[in-house]
Amino acid sequence: DTGARVPALVVGTGYGGSVAALRLAQAGVDVHMVEQGMAWDTPGPDGKIFANTTRPDFRSYWLRTRTKAPLSNFLGFPLDKDVPRYTGILDAEEMGGIVVYQGRGVGGGSLVNGGMAVTPKRENFAAVLPSVDAEEMYRTYYPRANAGLGVATVDPAWFETAECYRYARVGRKHAQRSGFPFVFVPDVYDWDYMKQEAAGTVQKSALDGEILYGNNAGKKSLQKTYLARAAATGKVTVTPLHRVTSVTPAGGPGAGYAVTMEQLATNGDVTAVKTVTADRVFFAAGSVGTSKLLVELKATGALPGLNDEIGKGWGENGNVMCGRANHMWDPTGKVQSSIPCSGIDNWAAGGAFAEVAPLPTGIETYASFYLSITKNPHRAAFSWNAAAGRVELNWQTAWKRPSIDMARTIFDRINEREGTIYRTDLFGTDKIWGDHLTYHPLGGAVLNKATDNYGRLHGHPGLYVVDGALIPGNTSVNPFVTITALAERNIERIIATDL
Ligand code: FAD
Repeated sequence: DTGARVPALVVGTGYGGSVAALRLAQAGVDVHMVEQGMAWDTPGPDGKIFANTTRPDFRSYWLRTRTKAPLSNFLGFPLDKDVPRYTGILDAEEMGGIVVYQGRGVGGGSLVNGGMAVTPKRENFAAVLPSVDAEEMYRTYYPRANAGLGVATVDPAWFETAECYRYARVGRKHAQRSGFPFVFVPDVYDWDYMKQEAAGTVQKSALDGEILYGNNAGKKSLQKTYLARAAATGKVTVTPLHRVTSVTPAGGPGAGYAVTMEQLATNGDVTAVKTVTADRVFFAAGSVGTSKLLVELKATGALPGLNDEIGKGWGENGNVMCGRANHMWDPTGKVQSSIPCSGIDNWAAGGAFAEVAPLPTGIETYASFYLSITKNPHRAAFSWNAAAGRVELNWQTAWKRPSIDMARTIFDRINEREGTIYRTDLFGTDKIWGDHLTYHPLGGAVLNKATDNYGRLHGHPGLYVVDGALIPGNTSVNPFVTITALAERNIERIIATDL
């Protein structure tokens, strides 16, 4: 409530925020987490907390009146439909030349993502986080993050026979016949639970196609891991449906920061404005959320001490999607697990790592679908548009060209070997590449540039960045394990030296 004073305030409840909250609480600090999205702990009218992927409803999108599915079309038909404006779970945020998909609610991106929990190859780490000691990360913080997140790999024997991974086995066959290394990719999904889903003994989630709009069972989102442990300390409170709009010094040195937030109704209306004082503020609003806040606060004079690196070094992890049309003798399966478990690694030779992704439509499509992570060199910057009163990003759609070329090093060769073609009906009509979007925003408050080498913002003691904004645009694989491991590393140092 207005007037309250808290020792530590965390803005956002995704990976970075959840790690910071747990470790601060374990160190004896009272932590207050503020989250603009909903708590996602109450079933809707259908008895389920989350909507199904194939039947988006009011719960599915963050303050939009029409859905904006990443795959906009199927067989030439547009899939999007009108929905009531609501503080739903998936934000399709349109930032100039790119749509940035993000999770909204307690648990951040862990609510909506595929749970692929990938540690980058050690030889690629220097390019991911150049100022961080790799030895320390691979010895201590990656293992700590993987343990905290509950990461595990599919049982390889079960994989061979599971109908729901027919699509992944087809993906493997095609990768290997073209000479590409095929790898199993760990995930935070409960694999034993998935076996029970396949056996028909429990409520289906991955095998009911749940993904993007939340999983009702099986996936270990942050609500079940870091946030559950944080709550168990008794020292962490979470306030959902509150959006932080300002952080500014409360007075003289040591007086802390005045944090202003808007309380939101589920239709997005602001119902109250509150200001509290926090000794320390941890920015964990995600790459876009943290960058937008910091760019605005610097430009408007609320945080004048921030340096000129704020808002820079933003990348989209080289995300690009595509589908391939298989022959009739290569069906990919009617029931596909929504949880991907494998990938094609052509990073060293071609700059692309492609996840063999599901297309859980409930019908046989003979399609193979892929989300590629590529070594796209382009980086964008956020800036304050004073006239419009908003933060903008200068990403250009054409900057995906290198990503497409890198992805083609895999799929052109597979198509040639298999005598197959690209699907042209998934992202519009006659459009092969899903090059308009990212699931993996990274950067905007880059480590050792906008902050020191542990996430302390320059110019304002007691302000920290702890989320994906620290990572300069690319992780070579899916990002949340790296975001978590970096947060573990940084918060350990901050607790040891700053408290
Ligand atoms: P986030 O998890 O984005 O959390 C930020 C939180 O802050 C959000 O809950 C947001 O609502 C809140 N917030 C923002 N602004 C404010 C404000 N002003 N006030 C209060 N709260 C605020 N990554 C993987 O590694 N593997 C995958 O399989 C994978 N699949 C994905 C699939 C989809 C569809 C999407 C969208 C993402 C996927 N990702 C995946 C990416 C991953 O989820 C993100 O990289 C990760 O969640 C980022 O973590 P974070 O801590 O930086 O921030």
